Amino acid sequence: QLSLREQLYEVLATSAQFYQHALRQSQGQKALQYLQSNRQLKEETIQQFGLGYAPAGWETLYRYLVEDKHYPAQILEKAGLIKPRKEGGGYYDVFRDRLMIPIRDVQGRVIAFGGRTLTDEQPKYLNSPETELFSKGKTLFALDQAKGGISQLDQAVVVEGYFDAIALHAAGINNAVASLGTALSLEQVRLVLRYTESKQLVLNFDADKAGTNATERAIGEIAELAYKGEVQLKILNLPNGKDADEFLNTHNPEEYQALAAPIKRLSTLEKFRFRIDELSPSERKELLETAPLWLDWQIKQIIQDRDLKQATDFQQVTQQLVKLLKKIANSDTRNY
Ligand code: ATP
Ligand code: MN
Ligand code: MN
Ligand code: MN
Repeated sequence: QLSLREQLYEVLATSAQFYQHALRQSQGQKALQYLQSNRQLKEETIQQFGLGYAPAGWETLYRYLVEDKHYPAQILEKAGLIKPRKEGGGYYDVFRDRLMIPIRDVQGRVIAFGGRTLTDEQPKYLNSPETELFSKGKTLFALDQAKGGISQLDQAVVVEGYFDAIALHAAGINNAVASLGTALSLEQVRLVLRYTESKQLVLNFDADKAGTNATERAIGEIAELAYKGEVQLKILNLPNGKDADEFLNTHNPEEYQALAAPIKRLSTLEKFRFRIDELSPSERKELLETAPLWLDWQIKQIIQDRDLKQATDFQQVTQQLVKLLKKIANSDTRNY
């Protein structure tokens, strides 16, 4: 007799196989085409991430798993795969006509799915609901694939989207994980830091409005760790508002790695045991150009697009900087 959790794992694994199989049938051709043409993904990457396709009907998964394979409908419902119909009884599939991305736990077991539409239907991404096995704030997409790379490179890269992480892995940058949705929780950060010795974390969210807001919130979450030096946090903003996936369409993996690389003189910088005026102009330039540390990023957010010659702007900037400084417990960091 399997426990509930074991039954959930089994039904999710079988569903992932069903979606993978559908991707190879005629109904899945447009999804496969999308992966190959629009996303430029190789067969190897499609296999590695177990990508699939949820057919367009209302109950294709339900019919296969419940009617053919005799899995209990309640288990599928608890796994977030089907929902009861409001009228007339029966169930319908949660994921229909979507490209399916399995979300796995650290051990590689499927615990949820992300489904991307192939049309302009909203929402663009549909994710499994929270279940017994899946908690969004405790999961990082691709961590099962990335944990070895994170240990090896002693650094983790966190991106926003599934395809950002997939594109990075496909480009041989195998220390990348994706936060699910836009928030990054302290728990997710602690989880990924387990695999790094020097606690190097690169946050590379989209340089659009949503990504900037998410970066701001993530820094808020992580600040406590950063102040104590328990994370070496670097904010990477890619040029021209691109996300990692788009950046890699036009740049080499080496260029990405150079941008994500730890800042030089890190041993000095990480403790903030220097004053900005002790740096030479070229060092200052380098510090600002290589993605800035989280604190530089916050300061830049406050100052940018302000005219400091205007009294109201000046006042607002001053207030916000003071507010930021008040939050920093470490006096060396404050000095910096
Ligand atoms: P694309 O597949 O077009 O490249 P993206 O990953 O760049 O999409 P963004 O709009 O930048 O998409 O959003 C980043 C991430 O946020 C997505 O990959 C997805 O995980 C999550 N997300 C975006 N829109 C939604 C949504 N409507 N519901 C849930 N999660 C979403
Ligand atoms: Mn975005
Ligand atoms: Mn994006
Ligand atoms: Mn994208």
